[in-house]
Amino acid sequence: MSDNYDIVIAGGGMVGVSLALQLGAVLPPQISIVLIEGASIPVDQQISAPDYHPSFDARSTALSYSSRLIYEQMQVWEALQEWLCAIESIHVSNRGRFGSTLLKAGDHSWEALGYVVENAWLGRALIHQLHEQGRVEVRSPAMVVRATPAGAGVILQLDSDQANIKTGLLLVADGVGSQLREQLGVTVKKKNYQQHAVVANIASTEPHRGCAYERFTDEGPLALLPLLPAGGGEHRSALVWTLAPEKARHMCSCSPAEFLQALQVRFGYRLGRMLKVGERHEYPLALVQSHEQVRQGVVVMGNAAHALHPVAGQGFNLALRDVAELARVLASGVAEGLPPGDLAMLQRYQSRQQSDQDRTIRFSDQVPALFMHRDPLLGLGRDLALAGLDLTPALKREFVRYAAGVAPMEGRVNG
Ligand SMILES: Cc1cc2nc3c(=O)[nH]c(=O)nc-3n(C[C@H](O)[C@H](O)[C@H](O)COP(=O)(O)OP(=O)(O)OC[C@H]3O[C@@H](n4cnc5c(N)ncnc54)[C@H](O)[C@@H]3O)c2cc1C
Repeated sequence: MSDNYDIVIAGGGMVGVSLALQLGAVLPPQISIVLIEGASIPVDQQISAPDYHPSFDARSTALSYSSRLIYEQMQVWEALQEWLCAIESIHVSNRGRFGSTLLKAGDHSWEALGYVVENAWLGRALIHQLHEQGRVEVRSPAMVVRATPAGAGVILQLDSDQANIKTGLLLVADGVGSQLREQLGVTVKKKNYQQHAVVANIASTEPHRGCAYERFTDEGPLALLPLLPAGGGEHRSALVWTLAPEKARHMCSCSPAEFLQALQVRFGYRLGRMLKVGERHEYPLALVQSHEQVRQGVVVMGNAAHALHPVAGQGFNLALRDVAELARVLASGVAEGLPPGDLAMLQRYQSRQQSDQDRTIRFSDQVPALFMHRDPLLGLGRDLALAGLDLTPALKREFVRYAAGVAPMEGRVNG
């Protein structure tokens, strides 16, 4: 016995839920879509606790202008507004060296260089909108435990159900360690950075004034992204601190006082004194790229397709641009009468996104390497590059677009 769906999205993390919303918005109602998520996706009335879901965890995400446009189209942006902190400037510096630069939204007549949202609130807004839209069936908690290609589609087995699911198009969005990708025999290219990111919210004596700090140190990059003040007006920033694995482990388990002291030494006093650190989490960092993203009846999406170094805040923004492009291609293909799993149509999606993916992945991979290099000549070049950002408007503008996670081909935030 099996259920039939035109499209199955396996994995309801940040990418899977966004995919469900976008496909629900652009595909005609006769195309049946189901989202299957291993963790429990709460029904609308229960969406109050911010910590219910593995993808929507304690991290924060810097959203680019491209993501804003996509979320506006999905009608999520308005609900998100309440939780967004605009990035008005980015301060890039290099510990122990001279070069530093300040990139300002105002200098480019932009409203903001990006927007920071806590993942928990992003999840809340996305899931609320999914319920409001009511177009995509949601099965959760339910794990897809097996995916087997069959004819032009795929047969899926769930842990929660005796019946199999048959689909013409499986969208694999089950994260960087994707079991489904592996089951389908899709291999990956992996570059281990031998570094972990320590993530925590920090309270400081001075306000961030909308400034995101990107500081390169000999241990790795350290970013402090502006967050909205907490209740009581506490000045808060979201820390992403890249460290060697053993140091990261120590920083996650040491006392808050030792942590804050070490951070203060690394970061300096631009935010005054570091007062408090929230829950600390550690993420191993690697560049993982799927060797194939499309096959007949299958597309690999999000972290399952490409997981990036978080230094430039690009991974999710890129994944959302993939989501928007796939939705565009599917909508026009389906309108022409093609089945959603049609290989030539899926290849069209891949070729349209290839150059964006290549550019974004190259940038995320090269920036930390450049700034960590011990070669004195490269160090000099890097200082000149930073100082040069103040001198060369074109270069600065290009860096701003990337640093804010804005796709190179995009326009301005404010017309
Ligand atoms: C420290 C850090 C900071 C970051 N900051 C930024 C940033 O500022 N800006 C940015 O653009 N990006 C950022 N990123 C990248 C961003 O977090 C990822 O792009 C994003 O989390 C990818 O989401 P995903 O849905 O593909 O995967 P995941 O978040 O891993 O979600 C996968 C989902 O699939 C479910 N699942 C797994 N297996 C199954 C199965 N078999 N059946 C059903 N469900 C399943 C899981 O429960 C989970 O919900 C950052 C990453 C890190 C590590």
